[in-house]
Amino acid sequence: MNVRIGEEARERVRDATDIVQLIGERVQLRRAGRSYKGLCPFHTEKTPSFTVTPDRQIWHCFGCSRGGDVFAFVMEADKVTFPEALRMLADRAGIELPKQERTPGDEAFDRLYQANALARDFFRASLQSEAAAKARAYLAGRGFEEPWLARFEVGWAPEGWDGLMTALAKLLPAEVMEQAGLIVRRADGSGHYDRFRNRVLFPVATGAAKIAGFGARAIAEGDEPKYLNSPETPVFRKGRLLYGLPIARPGMRERGEAVVSEGYLDVIRLHASGFTNAVSTCGTALTPDQARLLARLQVDVLLLYDGDDAGVRAADRGLDPLLEAGVNVRVLLLPSGEDPDSFLRKEGAGALRERLESALDVPSFVAESKLAGVGGAGVGGTGAGGPGANPTLEQRVKRLVGLLGRIEDPIRRRLLLRRGADVFGLEETVLIEAVQGRGRGRRVAKPGVGVGTGSRPGAPGQAGTTSAGAGTAPAASEATPTPSDPIELELAGRVLTEEGAFTEVLVQGGAICFRSEPLRELLEPWFGEGRAPREDEIQTLLAQSPLTRAILAELPPEPGRTVEASRKEAKDLIQRLEERRLKASIQVLDQAIREAERSRDEGSLGRLIAERRDLASKLHTRSSHPAIH
Ligand SMILES: [Zn+2]
Repeated sequence: MNVRIGEEARERVRDATDIVQLIGERVQLRRAGRSYKGLCPFHTEKTPSFTVTPDRQIWHCFGCSRGGDVFAFVMEADKVTFPEALRMLADRAGIELPKQERTPGDEAFDRLYQANALARDFFRASLQSEAAAKARAYLAGRGFEEPWLARFEVGWAPEGWDGLMTALAKLLPAEVMEQAGLIVRRADGSGHYDRFRNRVLFPVATGAAKIAGFGARAIAEGDEPKYLNSPETPVFRKGRLLYGLPIARPGMRERGEAVVSEGYLDVIRLHASGFTNAVSTCGTALTPDQARLLARLQVDVLLLYDGDDAGVRAADRGLDPLLEAGVNVRVLLLPSGEDPDSFLRKEGAGALRERLESALDVPSFVAESKLAGVGGAGVGGTGAGGPGANPTLEQRVKRLVGLLGRIEDPIRRRLLLRRGADVFGLEETVLIEAVQGRGRGRRVAKPGVGVGTGSRPGAPGQAGTTSAGAGTAPAASEATPTPSDPIELELAGRVLTEEGAFTEVLVQGGAICFRSEPLRELLEPWFGEGRAPREDEIQTLLAQSPLTRAILAELPPEPGRTVEASRKEAKDLIQRLEERRLKASIQVLDQAIREAERSRDEGSLGRLIAERRDLASKLHTRSSHPAIH
């Protein structure tokens, strides 16, 4: 859909939807000042922390950090994608959505999908033929039976050079088959031959269940390569597809989690064993595109890999794109040499289910798994010990710091940071400093929308689809510590929405006016830009950043306030913050003075008393002349 048309439709549907009424149908809401409160439908709670703010057309849960606009609510409540939510709310509001405009490119794509669909039918039928006895024996020998083969539309490409080509010749021109990667042109130009011969075929479908290409496994001894994929075509982009996705989607929605492994047979075995939320990469490392796809599906991810060196490295590499896409991830490594298929066959579904319970979170994986921490993009694989050597503690900590720096959501980062400190037995502050040191350089380099998807900050039309991912992913299931100082929160809210407050804080030093690290991170890029976010950028932030929602959900609107008044208000808030900080510092000094007295440390005592006198006079000046500054 054209981005602008999509954007307009979104706006119209949002404007036409009464957020209080929509949510009120599912959640009992009580008015509380200018917002409404209720018990969060997405996490268990006894006191209401679920807030709907009609002024801003947002909802936010202070308990679990979920939130967003009306679309985000429907996506979360009904486990649907953004386009589905858009359609549902458009129907509800009686709005006709613009038809998707078709371009000549779409028709070329359709021809390739059609060619692949015909090929799938041919391969399916071939697997039932007499000639396919060996292929069927191979699959049966590995324990794969109908109906699972039928469910995944597994087929067989016959031996010989032109079975498919001859069968499809009446239906499709050779050029289309060639473009779809089904047949290969002879080197001497004298025609074509079938790409896949005597192989078991796994059709790889898009999310919309169109066949994009095939993975093919050899069944004859010595046939190389063991796995052969369709070549990259306009519709077959391995790095953007997840094998089994259309079949796994209901299971993923139900569980809120996707099991991601590496192989075609793994996926089929997992489904046949009851793990109906399994998908796989097409034999490649997980890509950023695949990670974003998973983020849009609003699921947590469990990486299920072989525990051999290659498997650990693949899992390790998968963490970077997943965390960057805002996905919650855990890792389960099977015993070395076992893939999900072989493990399930030997040990059964119960054993796997048990192991899945103990899958590792990111800090534990980096801390505990052999080899973890050297394979990822963050730290080069050529560490001290070289490839193959177990990383040192220092390398592992560095790797974790690199990974945490990829997480844009400050609250989620904080939770993993705390966990990392636990796992490594480090002071939390040490990790915080390390992560901040990294994060700062990265963030300043790209002002714009500070929290969100990163790659295209604030790009128009993006907020809707990405609110599926970064912001509202069912991630923060634990209690989430929002910065708790109400004065800081109010000041941050004014900075985001009022020109006067922004200017005042900017001239007083910008982000350093804030103690809270998440608030500094949220605001720093705007101070770098020298301007407050525009209304559309606020919308993007609201969709993507739980922190922004938390701030603005409670901020009273001040319509018609002058820039001057807003500046003055901000100045007062900054002053109250400073006063409190001075008082806190004085308390700390008082304690230090008492200790110095007790230990008769005359040198320190004199210095401390002088320092305290200094602070006390600063505090006095401030509180006695609030207007002068
Ligand atoms: Zn909640």
